[in-house]
Formats: sequence, C-alpha cells, structure tokens
Amino acid sequence: MTNSSTQALSVLTVPAFHDNYLWLIHDGVHAVAVDPGDAKPIRAALEANGLKLTAILLTHHHADHIGGVPELLQHYQVPVFGPRNETIAAVTLPVGEGKVFDVPGLPLRLSVLDVPGHTMGHIAYVREATDDAPTWLFCGDTLFAGGCGRLFEGTPAQMISSLGKLAALPDDTKVYCAHEYTLSNLRFARVVEPDNVALQERVKVETDKREHNLPTVPSTIGVEKATNPFLRYREPAIAEQLVQAGRLDRIDTPLATFTALRLWKNDF
Ligand code: ZN
Ligand code: FE
Repeated sequence: MTNSSTQALSVLTVPAFHDNYLWLIHDGVHAVAVDPGDAKPIRAALEANGLKLTAILLTHHHADHIGGVPELLQHYQVPVFGPRNETIAAVTLPVGEGKVFDVPGLPLRLSVLDVPGHTMGHIAYVREATDDAPTWLFCGDTLFAGGCGRLFEGTPAQMISSLGKLAALPDDTKVYCAHEYTLSNLRFARVVEPDNVALQERVKVETDKREHNLPTVPSTIGVEKATNPFLRYREPAIAEQLVQAGRLDRIDTPLATFTALRLWKNDF
C-alpha cells in the first residue's frame, strides 16, 4: 500500500544514440533526468508521459551523458547536479561522496559515491531501499552489466576501489548503467571464466532479451557479483585463465589480475 506521502517512483528507460540508456525517475507528474546525453528522446518521453522536468543529474563529463543539457535548460529551468571534481559548465550543484540530497519536485533522496576510474571525477547516485522498492544505483559508465567502463582517466587501483563500493550495495540493488554493452561484455566474460555456470545461464537470459529487443539493464548487484569478471577478478580461475591466455606472466596480486583483465577487454 502506498500513501500520498510516499508516492511510488518509477524509472523510465530512454534509449539514445547507438547503445546509451538515459533515465527518467518520476512520480507520474515530475521527473528527473539522469545523464541526458541527448535532449530529443528525453523531451519526447516527458511529453508522451505528461511529465515535467524538475532536475538533471550527471555522473561524468562525457558528451554522451551531458550533451542534451543545454537544450533541456532552454525548456526547463532546473538545477543540474553533477560531479564536484569535474568541470561541467551546466552544473549548478556540484556533489561528491558523502552528500545526501533531496531531488527537487520528487519524493526522492539520493546519496553520492565517488567512483573514479572511467573519468577522474565520476560519481554514482544511490537511492536507499524503500518498503516498495530495492536500492537503486545510477552508475553511469563505471559498472556495466557484465563489464566495467574503460579507464580513460583513472588507474586500475581506483577502478577496483570504485567497483568495490558498488559491489558492497545489497544484492537486490538495481543497477541502472548507461549503455547496452551486455552481450559483448558477456562474450568476454565467458572467455575468462568458461566454467562459471551462473554466467552461462545469464548469457541465455540476456541473449533472449536482446532477441526480443528488450534492454538487459537494469541488472542487479547480485547478478553482477555472480557473473561480472570485473567484480570477480579475485577468483583463482580467472587469474589462471589470464595466465593460460598469455595475458598475465604468473599468478600475482588481485590488482595485477584486474589490470590484465581490463587491458585484455580493451582489445577483445
Ligand atoms: Zn563515459
Ligand atoms: Fe558513456
């Protein structure tokens, strides 16, 4: 049962470009856009659902995540939350780890995690579980379904620490990542961990979704912990596979495994 003071929120998936997902969190009246790389599909989704934009949330400075902001601001004068450690012209409310804030217009409280690696200032937004919904995570290009973001600015050690923060969230946390990269990520995952039964099952499930043109996102933290090699690099089988493939000289530290894994994925 919901009452008027705890109106249920939903998340709308807004596909954009080739393989981006932009997100609209809304209560049926007001909406906040997460990473609106393109204004057109956001405006169309707002109009189609009779929603009014009340805020914009950004995870990092890449164009496919912020490109639609100027056009949205022409139509909606709203605050723009974004990473305090990056320079993004449109950001009016810089936030970073430890910040907890109420999103204007919605019964939505978010907390911020610093998750450097893909970019140096990358942040993620977390909504704690409610009576009606599990934890929600909006993690941009840090954690993907079956993979993780490329290290354009940060180090493998930073990415390990960032992914560790996300993996510490409850298993039923919904992972709203920003790209549909799942099948190609899982193709790589299968090569590095061929005997993972949960992974084999997941490949079937996600392949079926894509064949029916359905998004594989959101995923959950539990599924990622069971199948995503970038959360599983401490598994001995993964290090052994890297050695066998000539991607790692010998079994070494988890950091060495993670580094080799990320480099291999880059040219997979
Ligand atoms: Zn990016
Ligand atoms: Fe991106």
